[in-house]
Amino acid sequence: MRSNLVAGNWKMNGDSASIGKLMANLTAALPAEPGVDIAVFPPSVYIAQVIGGFTGSPVAVGAQNVCEQPGEGAYTGEVSAAMLADVGCRYVIVGHSERRAMYEDSNERVAQKARHALEKGLMPIVCVGETEVQRDSGATLDVIAEQLQSVFAVLSVEDMHSIVVAYEPVWAIGTGKTATPSQAQEVHAFIRALFAKKDEPLAKGLRILYGGSVNAGNAGELFAQADIDGGLVGGASLDAQEFSAICRAA
Ligand code: PEP
Repeated sequence: MRSNLVAGNWKMNGDSASIGKLMANLTAALPAEPGVDIAVFPPSVYIAQVIGGFTGSPVAVGAQNVCEQPGEGAYTGEVSAAMLADVGCRYVIVGHSERRAMYEDSNERVAQKARHALEKGLMPIVCVGETEVQRDSGATLDVIAEQLQSVFAVLSVEDMHSIVVAYEPVWAIGTGKTATPSQAQEVHAFIRALFAKKDEPLAKGLRILYGGSVNAGNAGELFAQADIDGGLVGGASLDAQEFSAICRAA
């Protein structure tokens, strides 16, 4: 039985005061026992603040990115998986489409990030998704398969028991356009089938999140699909009431 996960990607938003307020509002809005896994992903400089503020709360904390290099050293500006684990992160997002598009995160680099995260005990949320042009040309499933191929090349079946996959159509991120529940379900079922070719129990236990303009109004229908196990939420995660409603829908 898979437990649903709702992950809030705060992206590069907020400051210490507004993040403190968001945490207080979330604590007030979320049920004490949400019955669903919840994680938030603050900008890296605020991770320690958020972990401190959510001590004893059901809300876990993760990072939006991690360095693809193992160990430590001369990687100016980067943050390692060991550092994220050290400050108490449980998850890390790898391969978000914004990083793929703007910071040259290739499929291979994303797989390395996932690998080093796992080595340090973090749970990577591996994002995959097609652009609008790719969908319109009928290439969606090929794109997803290629993105996951790099992950399969680097991670063992045992490793993959500790990952989460997020299907995030690029055309739906931050645009207000959401995949229909059946469009999303088709891709989620395809992803699960790819993992089933590696190992059936792995595929059955794999959590596959949907991301792309999820809000309180569309979450219920999306999360009701057989292969959708929660959501990766951007914009709506910055509003405590909206995010809490999405968590309730899961
Ligand atoms: C995201 O950034 O992962 C995302 C899904 O954003 P939004 O919910 O704003 O579309």
